[in-house]
Amino acid sequence: MKYISTRGKAAVLEFEDVLLTGLASDGGLYVPEEMPSYSKEEIASWASLSYSELAYKIIQPFVGDAIPVDDLKNIIDQSYATFRHDAITPLVQIGHNEWILELFHGPTLAFKDVALQLLGHLIDYMLARRNERAVIMGATSGDTGSAAIEGCRRCENIDIFILHPHNRVSDVQRKQMTTVLSDNIHNIAIEGNFDDCQQMVKECFSDQAFLKGERLVAVNSINWARIMSQTVYYFYAALHLGAPHREMQFSVPTGNFGDIYAGYLAKKMGLPIRKLVIATNKNDILHRCLSANDYSRSTLEHTLSPSMDIMVSSNFERMLFELYDNDGAAVNQLMADLNNGALSIEESRFEKVKAIFDSYSVDDNATCKTIADVYDGSDYLLDPHTAIGVSAARACKTDNKELPMITLATAHPAKFPEAIKVAGVKDSPELPHHMAGLFDREERYTVLENDLATVKAFMQDNIV
Ligand SMILES: *Cc1c(COP(=O)(O)O)cnc(C)c1O
Repeated sequence: MKYISTRGKAAVLEFEDVLLTGLASDGGLYVPEEMPSYSKEEIASWASLSYSELAYKIIQPFVGDAIPVDDLKNIIDQSYATFRHDAITPLVQIGHNEWILELFHGPTLAFKDVALQLLGHLIDYMLARRNERAVIMGATSGDTGSAAIEGCRRCENIDIFILHPHNRVSDVQRKQMTTVLSDNIHNIAIEGNFDDCQQMVKECFSDQAFLKGERLVAVNSINWARIMSQTVYYFYAALHLGAPHREMQFSVPTGNFGDIYAGYLAKKMGLPIRKLVIATNKNDILHRCLSANDYSRSTLEHTLSPSMDIMVSSNFERMLFELYDNDGAAVNQLMADLNNGALSIEESRFEKVKAIFDSYSVDDNATCKTIADVYDGSDYLLDPHTAIGVSAARACKTDNKELPMITLATAHPAKFPEAIKVAGVKDSPELPHHMAGLFDREERYTVLENDLATVKAFMQDNIV
């Protein structure tokens, strides 16, 4: 399969190169030139597949002949063997036609493991075959860093450097990163905030000479392979509730628009999805876009759902490229408009996006109320991100009551105990037993000043 950039100017790449890169050279994001699509009969024939078997069916066309069939099957099996539930992503019912898709049974208790366990293996496999090494670099405010580290801890050809803001991530989040003691893993605590960390990563990507020829690979959701692997669980859940013979609806707690964009792609591939609900917290750029055609940066709000605290949703660019019929020049213009303050979508195209998505913005009060309500009503404890999804799902469900509404559960409640306390739930969620010893484990990380040259020098000294 061939991949093109959303800005229309960068070279067309094969899967292997898309996997091992970050942004396209024109500043865009890579997407497949053409999406596979499946008939109702084909989709129905997947109903009894295991998660890994289904993942192979869906992922293989995106990989094409870049990886031999048996190797790809192996990689997928290994990636999901670390999950602590045999179904990988089990469904739980919390009400009539109300379902929770638990995506948090991976090593770090958040949905990012679904993509990053696979991504680590894919990258390592490609590097081994090319006899190369690479450096993975990322900034994190919590979840992405630990999921990337868990995804790469056994990769022989990768050095990974994760920057987090010193003293500004939760204890659980820090420990999940810093207690992984492999030699190829380097945690850097920057004396600054998350934006400082992100800015440094950006600057390293735009000037890679300091790595003396080693490749820098991105693991945030601009990496196509992450999106691709997230389409699988939409199919898996829908098949178990009667698709393709019945339509489904999904509600997705959204930050960078990666997870919900994967849902849109599942629909495009043929899965009958009636509605996709974009659930945001107070950082509501997507909700403002969907409700008032106003996609503009506003100030960052710190909420009880920190993994969704963003100002701009980077993957929305991929959706715009779709809406503008793959017109890179038009996307370039929209992104220039955004840089100047705001972009708005052409009226006829805006109607199209409204037909596919609903959106809701949920504040901390409503988040806590939903945690308490669901705990009272169904004895099920939601994490604050998932609670935003359920809250949005309930707000819009009135249209299509007869259809299942599946909310994606993006984190385990034990990862965000603060919100649960604020919600007034007396029982505090327990860490699963495999993580019980987390607070006693040895930590390793380096505190560095907020200075690009210092970080670059540290990386040079520590590459294996
Ligand atoms: C990253 C994250 C999200 C947001 O996912 P996007 O793909 O950025 O929309 C939601 N919930 C949790 C717990 C996360 O870690």
